Amino acid sequence: MVLLPVQCPKCQSIDIVKYGKTSKGKQRFYCKNKECSCHTFILKPAYRGWLPEVKQQIVEMNLKGKSIRDIARILGISTTTVSNELKNFYRCQSIGNDTEMYVNSDIAPLSTKLEKPG
Ligand SMILES: [Zn+2]
Repeated sequence: MVLLPVQCPKCQSIDIVKYGKTSKGKQRFYCKNKECSCHTFILKPAYRGWLPEVKQQIVEMNLKGKSIRDIARILGISTTTVSNELKNFYRCQSIGNDTEMYVNSDIAPLSTKLEKPG
């Protein structure tokens, strides 16, 4: 069994127990601190896949020839997230000028980053 450093988002208590799952299958936790108003909460590691820097890494790795499976394993996110991100990225690319602003602001530090590694 792996002990995760789960902390209550409200009272920061680490006196936390697992408390079943949500309807979407996410692990729910229960804060045992009786004075805490939080009671149950859900961690949000799934959101990691949507951080701009993660999106960027997904695209960069894909451009370097890594498979969706490889990328998912390296970044510790699901293959679904990776494939959705790539679909999203390439769809934006192919639509053309109208979406260029979105691509630039959201993902495209890509080209500048490749020129200046580190
Ligand atoms: Zn709490």
